[in-house]
Amino acid sequence: MEISDEVAVEMDKVNKWFGEFHVLRDINLTVQKGERIVICGPSGSGKSTMIRCINRLEEHQKGRIVVDGIELTGDLKKIDEVRREVGMVFQHFNLFPHLTIMENCTLAPIWVRKMPKKKAEEIAMHYLERVKIPEQAHKYPGQLSGGQQQRVAIARSLCMNPRIMLFDEPTSALDPEMIKEVLDVMVGLAEEGMTMLCVTHEMGFARSVANRVIFMDRGQIVEQNEPKAFFENPQHERTKLFLSQIL
Ligand code: ADP
Ligand code: MG
Repeated sequence: MEISDEVAVEMDKVNKWFGEFHVLRDINLTVQKGERIVICGPSGSGKSTMIRCINRLEEHQKGRIVVDGIELTGDLKKIDEVRREVGMVFQHFNLFPHLTIMENCTLAPIWVRKMPKKKAEEIAMHYLERVKIPEQAHKYPGQLSGGQQQRVAIARSLCMNPRIMLFDEPTSALDPEMIKEVLDVMVGLAEEGMTMLCVTHEMGFARSVANRVIFMDRGQIVEQNEPKAFFENPQHERTKLFLSQIL
């Protein structure tokens, strides 16, 4: 698990408002390639909004965001470029219910990357094997368990060959027995050197996989550290309170 000295994501004094509500306040964050960052914090603290800004699912109003050398401005071409580099996995999987697993995985490679169908299917099979559900390829999302659907969602992202993966509470909607099968896939990705930003409260995952844990509260990054120091010696009262509630 190597961390390069190249920058994957740079956020520089990023601010965002939803109407009057100041949701992100002066977010400064530099992510090196190969970093595995866990983001935690109370509900409503701005975690989802922050990572959604990285692939422009949300627009920031002040400050700079640069992803893999591309600055996010209103330029739609650049937004497309960034979205090709950045994969995202959501809490509720967001698979297309009316498409088969295979079709879910090949849709973007065929239509966005202009890949021939056969090639896209080969790649999809490769990733479905990696997440250990190749036999589900012909089924529809509704026929799969939550854990299987989330593994499909990860495979679907990987089919676009992203350089950065964003995870927004990928295991929060899963029954306990399915959490591990999804975390195992994420651990595998980390071991291969994927740059990852994961919003999660799976602190076991944070301890074993993250090189850095970030704590957010009320739209700010309050504290960040390597996992051992973060958990054993939190500095801020808000971090201590949060950890005492979830651990
Ligand atoms: P977290 O992921 O940490 O729970 P979010 O980033 O989802 O927090 O939300 C941060 C705050 O912004 C919350 O108070 C939420 O209600 C608010 N918020 C999120 N999305 C919107 C939106 N589209 N419009 C208005 N307010 C929003
Ligand atoms: Mg959230």
